[in-house]
Amino acid sequence: MATFKAIRIDKADKGTTAALTQFDEAELMDGDVTVDVEWSTLNYKDGLALTGKAPVVRRFPMIAGIDFAGTVERSSHPNWKAGDKVVSTGWGLGETHLGAYAEKARVKGDWLVRLPEGMSAREAMAIGTAGFTAMLAVLALEKQGVTPGSGPVVVTGASGGVGSVATAVLAKLGYHVIASTGRMAEAPYLKSLGAAEVIDRNELSGPAKPLAKERWAGGVDSVGSTTLANLLSMTRYGGAIAACGLAAGMDLPTSVAPFILRGVCLLGIDSVMCPLAPRKAAWERLARDLDRSKLSEITHEIGLDQVLDNGPKILAGQVRGRIVVKIV
Ligand code: NDP
Repeated sequence: MATFKAIRIDKADKGTTAALTQFDEAELMDGDVTVDVEWSTLNYKDGLALTGKAPVVRRFPMIAGIDFAGTVERSSHPNWKAGDKVVSTGWGLGETHLGAYAEKARVKGDWLVRLPEGMSAREAMAIGTAGFTAMLAVLALEKQGVTPGSGPVVVTGASGGVGSVATAVLAKLGYHVIASTGRMAEAPYLKSLGAAEVIDRNELSGPAKPLAKERWAGGVDSVGSTTLANLLSMTRYGGAIAACGLAAGMDLPTSVAPFILRGVCLLGIDSVMCPLAPRKAAWERLARDLDRSKLSEITHEIGLDQVLDNGPKILAGQVRGRIVVKIV
């Protein structure tokens, strides 16, 4: 195939443009594995790249899309051969390296993870970067000693991608999950994922006190800003909050009080440059600890031709759960 379908981002006089077009295979970047991409997904960062709302894309032209699942077409990497089923998230895909919204991707073999046994490529992308990040956050809480016996855990941005997967996984593991959302109409959805309580995000969005009443032993935050500050000030003695997102802002208007008076830990979560060993561990745990029927409840499927319309929607907080993108 000399050309293939792709969502291409170009630099314009003002900002960037994005269009579904044909891309020349000869323009693919260096890499030792070429993959026939079958599924991708829409993450918050994809919304930023597609709309140009933040400088996510740092090379032009770019193929958007930060994660994919597919089948190896050819490889000169020792770990991979034609026919292998693979998953890739992060590593600069869709940012500095030609990305996932395309029928073909050429990447470094070191960036790939084998599709977990018994998981389909569609399921892997229904999980995608957001679900993978949620699992990294759960693993960080476990490593910090937050167990179901420690007390309740809070999940913010609960109706979103990271939040929905975190809610489902933590509930399956036996945690008492308090889901925080700005969409109280989604309370039945969040309860169906296993949330024990659903609270309005307004409770957590005002300016934070240095210390407030202790409400939870841990949490997964995809919102940042005053919400993360409130989470920290309401965390029980010795608890921990895993911070992975900035849906409400990059700032963190907090004080040192939760850290020095309650021994609270703030755990940073990065999915992009996450090394291979924890990557594999997270995918193995997703295969085991995420109920597939819950995953399908979370998932909404679109075609490559619908991605551009959905970019602004995810930024506006209008997407529930996960959007999986059928490439071919
Ligand atoms: P989604 O848009 O699917 O979810 C974000 C959710 O946050 C929304 O659904 C909404 O949930 C809530 N939200 C949105 N805007 C606001 C606001 N202004 N104030 C408070 N809450 C808000 O995005 P993802 O789940 O894909 O990503 C979530 C965040 O995590 C993003 O900031 C993303 O950049 C980050 N992220 C970070 C990664 C990492 O490696 N660290 C990897 C993946 C994502 P509700 O309606 O329920 O309140």
